[in-house]
Amino acid sequence: MAEAEIRFLFVDVGFGNATFVFTPAEEILLLDTGSVHTADRLLAFMEQNAIPRIDYLVASHFEDDHMGAAFKIAERVPILNYVDHGESAVYGKSDEWWGERRFGFHAGAEKRDTERYDNYVAVRNKARHIPMKVGDRAPIQGLEMLVVSGGGKELTRPLEGAGQPNPHCAGIDQRTEDDAEDGQSMGVVARHGKFRFIYLGDLTWNAANRLFCPRNLIGAVDAYLITHHAQSLPGEMGAYYHGISSCPPSEVFGLAPRVAILSLGPGGHRRGTSEAIQTVHKVPGCDLWQTNYVREGGEAGYNGAQPYIANLGEKSEKIPFLELIARADGSFTMTNSRNGFTKQYPPRAN
Ligand SMILES: [Zn+2]
Repeated sequence: MAEAEIRFLFVDVGFGNATFVFTPAEEILLLDTGSVHTADRLLAFMEQNAIPRIDYLVASHFEDDHMGAAFKIAERVPILNYVDHGESAVYGKSDEWWGERRFGFHAGAEKRDTERYDNYVAVRNKARHIPMKVGDRAPIQGLEMLVVSGGGKELTRPLEGAGQPNPHCAGIDQRTEDDAEDGQSMGVVARHGKFRFIYLGDLTWNAANRLFCPRNLIGAVDAYLITHHAQSLPGEMGAYYHGISSCPPSEVFGLAPRVAILSLGPGGHRRGTSEAIQTVHKVPGCDLWQTNYVREGGEAGYNGAQPYIANLGEKSEKIPFLELIARADGSFTMTNSRNGFTKQYPPRAN
């Protein structure tokens, strides 16, 4: 390679996240696996794109749409290192506890989650486990990946160059804390020269506001993999659910991304509103790229321009994805696998 580049592939796994990152040192990361239900799809994607192994599986948190496929992938492809926030915060919780935290909950429903975590830990135990805490830097070659949230904690000191007062904190409400897995999400900032990428998993309302208010501890980024698939739940659903909304304006405007990537799936958010994605639509100069066209769950409020959407719901043998190639000067290129639509982003001014 003439110049060191970082390559991201945002795979269409429906509702969930699965993002490959290829470092200049030719190490392969998988940032979340997507659900167990799309494990075969992810494996097909790896075959189609000749991805032979995973050096680092970075699991943002222990929910099915982020790590459920790990044990299935590990049956077929080597996964050498498991990077995560440690242990599940919800493992073994009672039906009563869960009843307050999951809509449509019925007794015994959490057995599935317990099994999935057991399956994950079983394969993790066969490889190297790298638990990470806030402030840690992942031991990955050629890519600086910093942990900014995780296990219910957030960064308290600004990243280099950040820490300015955030004008988008005014009027932001305090909500109920999330003690389930979303609120434990391990958020990471990846840096390659001047290029900045952020992914906060499914980090929830209050935790995000601690990162961005009153001072913006992160600063601006180039690419933002949208937190929690842009989930907003209305106050009428109750205090707990309202608190597991994500993407407050302090975060979205504070990051001022040039591209925002939505991995939501065609079904949208059951019972959610499009408030969070509306915030993203309002960021000046930011393009919204999507793995899926959102057909349900307030579609009118979600979708951006079609050339930027990888899967419009048509049948295709090739698993759709979005590609981002980043260079150390901060410039990057986005490409949609469906139509070959590509856009160049010059280095950020300043
Ligand atoms: Zn999720």
